[in-house]
Amino acid sequence: GSGRRPLVAGNWKMNGTRASLATVEGIRDGLSPALLEKIDVLICPPATLISSCVAATYGSPIAIGGQNLHARPSGAFTGSISAEMLADLGAKYVIVGHSERRAYHHETDDGVHAKALGARRAGLCGIICVGETMEEREQGRALSIVRAQLAIGIPKGATAQDTVIAYEPVWAIGSGRTPTPAEIAEVHASLREMLDKLVGEEAAKIRILYGGSVKPGNARELMAVENVDGALVGGASLVAEDFLGICNAYA
Ligand code: PEP
Repeated sequence: GSGRRPLVAGNWKMNGTRASLATVEGIRDGLSPALLEKIDVLICPPATLISSCVAATYGSPIAIGGQNLHARPSGAFTGSISAEMLADLGAKYVIVGHSERRAYHHETDDGVHAKALGARRAGLCGIICVGETMEEREQGRALSIVRAQLAIGIPKGATAQDTVIAYEPVWAIGSGRTPTPAEIAEVHASLREMLDKLVGEEAAKIRILYGGSVKPGNARELMAVENVDGALVGGASLVAEDFLGICNAYA
């Protein structure tokens, strides 16, 4: 095996109110101790629920994370939340550069880099998202796009403690479509080779997740792909049984 401990992460996006704590409790109560010895599990609820999700998972190995951050630690940035603020609530991870942030909030690779540095500064693990659009894939540019996103986004001296990579083809997110296992393997191998160039021997320890329409029905096949070290799950993380079904791909 790779020696890398799988991470199954849920991204709730802009979904959830206090009633959704029942979902976190369902996930908490549905994970077997045997499975939790093998994998890391993370839920990234909206920022409004981080505190209560941390409380609901107190004493369990489930980690709670943010979906976004401002790169600066504090200041006149109305409406923004810093890595320090997330860490103060008990968050351990933060998603950086999700394709929805890139598309709707004009985040650039340089901005992603600044945010990843912010995450590291506060002791959070940044989940740096990369992925090509369908147009870029059809033009044969998928590998060059994700390699550039990785090279610019990742902090110098990144470690497995402070960095996770997520390959999320934009066209697979929320669409029910996924790349073939061979296509995923090709991208993950290329990202791993790039990681090697960027951070040297630490690269072998850094996890690369796959994200995009991961469901209980396809998780086993997708998680078995070489160099896939876990999943970043959107829609299916909103339902405890579905998220548990994905985690159980590792059971
Ligand atoms: C995501 O947004 O990170 C994602 C993978 O979404 P979905 O699982 O719904 O495709």
